[in-house]
Amino acid sequence: MTAPHTQSVVILGGNLAGLTAAHRLASQGYRVTLVDQPPSLEGASPGEQPHDEPEAFTVLGCHHNTQALLRSLQADSPQPASINIPLEFRLPDHSLIRYPRTGLPAPLHTWVSLLRFTGIPWNERWQLACWLERLWEDEEQLAADLEQRTAGEWLATLGQSTETCRRVWNPLAQWLTGNDLYVLSADAFVNSVRPLFLNTRSDSRISILQNSPHSCLTQPITRALTKAGATILRDTEALELRYERDRISGVLLKDGSLLQADWYITALAPQQLTPLIPERWLTRYAYFQQLALLQSSDSTTILAETEQACVAPRLILLGDTAFHSILATRRGPDRTSFSLVTTDSRFAQAQLSQDLESMVPDLLRSLGLLPPGSNIATTSRRTIPHAILSLRPGTKLHRPIQRSPIANLLVAGAWTDTGWPPNLESAIVSGNRSADAISRR
Ligand SMILES: Cc1cc2nc3c(=O)[nH]c(=O)nc-3n(C[C@H](O)[C@H](O)[C@H](O)COP(=O)(O)OP(=O)(O)OC[C@H]3O[C@@H](n4cnc5c(N)ncnc54)[C@H](O)[C@@H]3O)c2cc1C
Repeated sequence: MTAPHTQSVVILGGNLAGLTAAHRLASQGYRVTLVDQPPSLEGASPGEQPHDEPEAFTVLGCHHNTQALLRSLQADSPQPASINIPLEFRLPDHSLIRYPRTGLPAPLHTWVSLLRFTGIPWNERWQLACWLERLWEDEEQLAADLEQRTAGEWLATLGQSTETCRRVWNPLAQWLTGNDLYVLSADAFVNSVRPLFLNTRSDSRISILQNSPHSCLTQPITRALTKAGATILRDTEALELRYERDRISGVLLKDGSLLQADWYITALAPQQLTPLIPERWLTRYAYFQQLALLQSSDSTTILAETEQACVAPRLILLGDTAFHSILATRRGPDRTSFSLVTTDSRFAQAQLSQDLESMVPDLLRSLGLLPPGSNIATTSRRTIPHAILSLRPGTKLHRPIQRSPIANLLVAGAWTDTGWPPNLESAIVSGNRSADAISRR
């Protein structure tokens, strides 16, 4: 077997999944080439080159891989302090309520926090707490068919009313996965909620980093890669994976050049990967055929700014508007930035601009985020096509693992089968697993 320092790897896709794999392999002595097409004008995911100023992002306590990566980059590039914030929900009377945190050890903190959370009516809370206790005591098991039903249906069997689902569980599902509770599989719901609420107390922390993923992660990893001698081609596009028998023999780039390596990792979205796969493999391997079964939808973020200081960052989940979550963060000493996320396709259309100009300040005022008399200084909108992977029942089977049937091809990306909903943690886990699969061989 060739020693790592003489082995080469070509990685397609330069967002967090590709960068993580590149970083891990370059630090182990592999010769890495990273290919990334320029960001589209339409929309860039967090981590890609931002359109304007930096924006904050959330990292959960249970996102251990993201935190380990941030810590490992700390030496070269000091990270901004992260601020822990509570999760807030809006009640029917329009008041806001925080999900409580306790100082108790696990699993008591889960139980006590749930019982103290008045966002859910007492009888439903009690039913849920009793069910959790039976799970802990092994008197009950999670249903075996969670991947075959929606989260909404399953929560009803646990005594959760439609109103609680609308006020609490749907905004939570939307925030964690981008999916509606009545579309999302119960299995995906459990896997996104459990690490945050049912593990240790530190796993349930929600931290805001005041800088963007681009400046906290992308830039320092790029610097580390350059230092390690990796080649980064940021302005070109991969057009085709060339093959010989059952191995990849090279990647054809838009500029006409052919990149060749011992290993190949794709870290692209499924709809970007499929056109690169040879037809012969698409018809022959179920692994590649199932990519076509994954569905995604667009996500729109409205960014609004006001000329008023942000006392503390806030994260509010909403059940009764088209916006599922609002994140208020500091943008300089006397400016607050609000990002409102929606999957409602009407907000991606330009003609809504006028409505938005009144709708956003009204909503912020009703939440007490915008004092009377204050106005929004700027509003902008960003729609990211295919940003949300549909996690409907049955999808789990179609999310591919990192190892493909092609011996020298690994597949990474937040949407792959990592056990996480597609988020930064999932992208980083997939990058780590792809790199480990190569170094273990
Ligand atoms: C609005 C929004 C907010 C979010 N906020 C958070 C958050 O606060 N916390 C969190 O954990 N997660 C968040 N996420 C999720 C997270 O940002 C994504 O899951 C993550 O960025 C996905 O990274 P990736 O590397 O898997 O893939 P992608 O972002 O899909 O990257 C693919 C890369 O490949 C490149 N590419 C595509 N085709 C080619 C080609 N043919 N040749 C070369 N390069 C190509 C693309 O330009 C891109 O750089 C958010 C997502 C959105 C949309």
